[in-house]
Amino acid sequence: MSIIDKVREAGVVGAGGAGFPAHVKLDAKVDYVLANGAECEPLLHKDAELTETYIDQVIRGMELSMEATGAPEAIFGIKAKRTRTVAALENATAGKPIKVQLFGDYYPAGDEFVLVYECTGRLIPAGGIPLQVGAVVHNSETLLNMAEAMEGRPVTRKILTVTGEVANPMSLSVPVGITLQELIEIAGGATTPDYTVFVGGLMMGRIESDLSKPVTKTTGGLIVLPSDHRLVTRMTTPNKAMHRIGKSACDQCSYCTEFCPRYLLGYDVQPHKVMRTLGFTATGKENWSKWADLCCSCGLCTLYSCPEDLFPKEACDQAIADRKEAGLERWLGPTEEITAHPMESGRHVPLKALMQKLGVKNYDRPAPWHHCNYQPRKVTLPLSQHLGAPAEVVVGVGDRVGAGQVIAEIPEGKLAARLHASIEGTVTAVNGSITIEQS
Ligand code: SF4
Ligand code: SF4
Repeated sequence: MSIIDKVREAGVVGAGGAGFPAHVKLDAKVDYVLANGAECEPLLHKDAELTETYIDQVIRGMELSMEATGAPEAIFGIKAKRTRTVAALENATAGKPIKVQLFGDYYPAGDEFVLVYECTGRLIPAGGIPLQVGAVVHNSETLLNMAEAMEGRPVTRKILTVTGEVANPMSLSVPVGITLQELIEIAGGATTPDYTVFVGGLMMGRIESDLSKPVTKTTGGLIVLPSDHRLVTRMTTPNKAMHRIGKSACDQCSYCTEFCPRYLLGYDVQPHKVMRTLGFTATGKENWSKWADLCCSCGLCTLYSCPEDLFPKEACDQAIADRKEAGLERWLGPTEEITAHPMESGRHVPLKALMQKLGVKNYDRPAPWHHCNYQPRKVTLPLSQHLGAPAEVVVGVGDRVGAGQVIAEIPEGKLAARLHASIEGTVTAVNGSITIEQS
């Protein structure tokens, strides 16, 4: 069986957040395989920890990706500050056509457009994908999962960091489908009675109030903060209030644009202009600004750049949604020729400064690897844990399943990923998810 087929069979998806089915990415010819180990979300450490723990498999994943795509070269992008992981990588790649590229400690070094530019000097066309400049990018966990797939082991576990207000911050591997609450308990429980949970990161993740929700193949981390933390207050401000404040308080200083990582790479993203159009909403959604269309929702403008604590990122999110609803074409800028801003590297935002602004420096602690033997009684496995169509259920209520057994298939001709049971047990419910309970 080919590498692509094995990866498809094992249900491997982009583990960094997007969940793009990995077998589709591998089905291309490219010049570079890039490993994204830049891990720039504040407080998360799981990519560095897993790369060090599973170094041989991660490198094997890169070699498999090179073989499948015909890439003669591979580059592993990682921050220089991860000294132990860098040493392990340099040791494991010695004599191989795999280079280790060191990044500074800034946000968002792990943005795909930034990573491709830093590693290859190539700029992805506006609104495009790395393939258009001859690159394919995989998160380090995805590479590990590819190597496992070649050994016939499907994706049944998820690696993540649990940190913040928990007794034992840690990076660990758990069965897909356990609850967020179980994850907090594994990390020793919350250390504050009234807490709020960020899933996926402080910058690009979301606040989740339902802790019975399951860990999926793309859950990158869980950060527990006290509910009265200013970041919680900021991020739970109702949209209407965000826009009302923005309308009256934005002084058009344009710091949001000047620090925007996509603007600095040369794309026509200008959040200050989007803020300017907040006042136009009464005249129709089509008047929302096109300068939001290439925004990647990194959150930097709202959480770092704006000196008045306004919400330009949320204005961009709203503008994109409204323009889509109005049927307007995506704005790709005045030219296809992209040139990075001369100040691009000079305006990288140091992670330490970002954490200071977010008010989370006291949570900047290691989250060392924890060998987790947790055996859940029950798991819930959503049929959509990937980009594309939901997987198609192939089991029924009452069926006994073994760990690693296929429980949902890729629908014929669709972009999707297979789903496997993460524990042995009995299927007790099938709706938008499959529930398996030990019996
Ligand atoms: S940084 Fe803040 S105040 Fe300045 S233009 Fe942007 S939104 Fe307005
Ligand atoms: S969220 Fe703000 S800083 Fe980030 S890409 Fe969008 S406009 Fe730029």
